[in-house]
This record gives sequence, C-alpha cells and structure tokens, in this order.
Amino acid sequence: MVLAGHNPASEVYVRNKLKTVAAAGCRAELFRLDDTAIVGDALALVRRLNDDDGIDGILVQSPLPAGMGAGAEQQVFDAVDPVKDVDGFHPINIGLLVQKRHSLVACTPLGCIELLEREGIPIRGQHAVVIGRSDIVGKPMALLLLHRDATVTVCHSRTVDLPAVARTADILVAAIGRPAFVTRDYIKPGATVIDVGINTLTDRADVERYFAEGSRKRAQFAEKGSVLVGDVHPDVEEVAGALTPVPGGVGPLTIAMVLRNTVTAAELRKDKGRAR
Ligand code: NAP
Repeated sequence: MVLAGHNPASEVYVRNKLKTVAAAGCRAELFRLDDTAIVGDALALVRRLNDDDGIDGILVQSPLPAGMGAGAEQQVFDAVDPVKDVDGFHPINIGLLVQKRHSLVACTPLGCIELLEREGIPIRGQHAVVIGRSDIVGKPMALLLLHRDATVTVCHSRTVDLPAVARTADILVAAIGRPAFVTRDYIKPGATVIDVGINTLTDRADVERYFAEGSRKRAQFAEKGSVLVGDVHPDVEEVAGALTPVPGGVGPLTIAMVLRNTVTAAELRKDKGRAR
C-alpha cells in the first residue's frame, strides 16, 4: 500500500485495510511518501514495487497530495503493473472489463455484485439503475450488471427527472457522494437498494436538516460529534425490499474484494511465470 501525505480519511482507510489484510494471513506493507513528495517520487516507488517479486498487489491510496499536480493520480495509477493492479483502475483492466475478459475489477462494484449474489437477489432481466458514472464505481458497476444480463441505466448530474428514472429500478445503486440524497420518492416498493456513499457529517445543522428528531443518525451524532451517512436516506428501508447499511455495508465488502483481488493477482503472476 502506498500512502502519500497525511489525509486523515486516507489514514483511516489504509489502517483498516492493513488490519484486515494481515488478519487474513497476507503480508501487508505500508510505503509512505510525505506531503512534499513530487509525482516522480510516487512513480519511482510504484516502479520499484512492480519489480519486486515478493509483492503480488499494489494499492495507491487516493487522493494524492494536491502538490503533485493535476493528472498525477492518473499517471501513478497508469504506472502500476496491470497484473498487480488490485484496485482494478488500470486502463488495461478497464478495457478487459468492457470486453468481459476481466480478472482484476474495481473492488467496490465487485463487492456490490458479491452482495447481490450472496443474498440471492436476481440480476438477469432486472432493470438496474446506477446513479453515478465515476471510473471507479459507477461505470464498472454498470458493466458488471450488464455482464450479468441486467438492463442497465446510468444516471448522473445531468439526468432529467432522476427520481422518476430511479423509480423504475428493480436494483438501484447510489454512488453519488451526497448525504441522504436518495429519498423514499426515488424507490419502487420492494426494490433492492445498494448504498455506496460514505459521507461524514460534522455539522449539527446538516444532521438536523437530513434526519428527524429521535432518529438513529441524530443519536449517533449526539454521542460522537460526527456521523457516517450514505447517499441513501435511512428512511428508504421502509419502502425498499432490501437496503445496505452505512456504515457496515459496501465498505467492508470493498476491503474483502481487495483481498480477493490480491489472491487473483498472485495467481495471475504464477500463470504468467508458467507461460514464460
Ligand atoms: P465521484 O467521482 O464524485 O462521482 C459522483 C457521481 O455522482 C458523478 O458521476 C456525478 O455526476 C454524480 N452526481 C453528483 N451529484 C449528482 C446529482 N445531484 N444527481 C445525480 N448524480 C449526481 O464519486 P465516486 O468516487 O464514484 O464515489 C461516490 C460515493 O461513493 C462517495 O460518497 C464515495 O465516498 C463513496 N465510495 C465508497 C466506497 C466504499 O468502499 N464504500 C468506495 C468508493 C467510493 P457527474 O458525472 O455528472 O458529475
């Protein structure tokens, strides 16, 4: 794992990933770059890890420090050897996903599929609506659903009458980055709703605006001074057939998929070695 700078959220993510990976019996190492590092330092580190035969998977924690400049993230992600790209962000892995020849796929959408399959929720022939079209969540999510024979609609900030489109979904995936954005009027009764969003609210006024008095989120805020909120309002559980919780839903599954991808990457390199 590569961590550049001292972004507090990134520190927490990386700590959790290291703990989980180590608990599963993998060797996990953290390589740090300080806030003043330049993009060349990150590239040199990634290339060293690419060449290290003892390493099966490389994760570069986003965001990189702003000082590295615009486009740094793309440059650094592109430098990761595609067979060690356990985040599934490399353009080669994205291309393979488009062609349904994939092996390393972005962990969050992979976790959402795992969740649907393990819960026995049908995908084939269902209408799936994905809100969000980012390269790391929305787009790969749409492709994975499409490959499982869902009819897929991808929505974004320019979609006209989003609630009406969302209400046609049998499976609704929200990956927007806006707290409690998806409310009951977005939901067809009985639909499966996957909440990818992770938003931290620290302002009392925000919490009071989004959540009613006596609600769980208000109580959590009162206790801790901050509260984690998804992109889906918790009241949606009264209409939906199933709803993933935040925290404790897609987040932990994403980390589990990092582990799965690491094993896949190790196997890929073994196969590559055999082919030589
Ligand atoms: P992102 O790159 O910011 O993309 C957000 C997407 O939402 C964009 O496509 C944007 O549309 C769309 N959007 C924004 N406002 C909208 C609106 N008012 N109506 C409709 N669409 C709107 O975010 P991301 O990286 O995909 O992440 C999304 C969320 O998932 C965030 O809360 C993030 O923290 C969370 N996340 C969680 C995990 C996990 O492990 N659980 C992993 C990754 C991300 P445009 O394209 O038109 O701008």
